[in-house]
Amino acid sequence: MKSSRRDLMKAAGGISLAAAAGATPAAAQAGPKAIFPVAQKTIPIVGTTDVFPVRRVYCIGRNYAAHSREMGSDPTREPPFFFQKPTDAIQNVKVGEVADHPYPSLTKNYHYEVELVAALKSGGKNIPIDKALEHVYGYAVGLDMTRRDLQRAMGDEKKPWEIGKSFDMSAPIGPIHPVDKIGHFQKGAITLTVNGAVKQKADLSFMIWSVAEQIAKLSEANELMPGDIIYSGTPENVGPVVAGELMVCGIDKVGELHVKVV
Ligand code: MN
Repeated sequence: MKSSRRDLMKAAGGISLAAAAGATPAAAQAGPKAIFPVAQKTIPIVGTTDVFPVRRVYCIGRNYAAHSREMGSDPTREPPFFFQKPTDAIQNVKVGEVADHPYPSLTKNYHYEVELVAALKSGGKNIPIDKALEHVYGYAVGLDMTRRDLQRAMGDEKKPWEIGKSFDMSAPIGPIHPVDKIGHFQKGAITLTVNGAVKQKADLSFMIWSVAEQIAKLSEANELMPGDIIYSGTPENVGPVVAGELMVCGIDKVGELHVKVV
């Protein structure tokens, strides 16, 4: 009983709020009580024991010209578009760890997409491009894992992609590197290998819409908030993995992610 109440308070941020207000623990329990705990998803931050609480996981589609072409689009004419993954699709991967990643149900064509992820500490509506990066807390390496056969089949039927993109464990991610340590950057190598063979290899400068432009565009559709993260798209040469294969993702300044499909 004791531990579940502690989880509940942690989930609601009750402990820190009560402490900040100088309130007693009893006061922190006032008000309607959640009938069971729901975990707050967080991402570790490099160089601190603090964690980044996640509110929403946004992803941009077809943001590198060569990848856009391989998906059958014309990169010169398409405005940016976004989708979301559920927050609890995040799979945290520690530095130096090889994380076991379960091959998901329903698919026979499971694809990797290595991506730079921007994590927001603040937000707003209609954010101008030249102010957009002020909202970024830090960056991480992420994988936008995709049940490609289901994504394509749903697209062909003009149905939502959801089942192809937004499923359990579909968002492996490394720790966040704060901007105050690594700064902002618009270029740098982005790579993915499978069992040591290079599969994706490009440069962040090849993005069609920069991170700043993505934030500006997204904030026209939704008010962005602290805790939102944005997967900024994958370069070309996405492809399948099967159980037993090891993916190593790397982005300059943001480190590596080691994920083994099991
Ligand atoms: Mn993607």
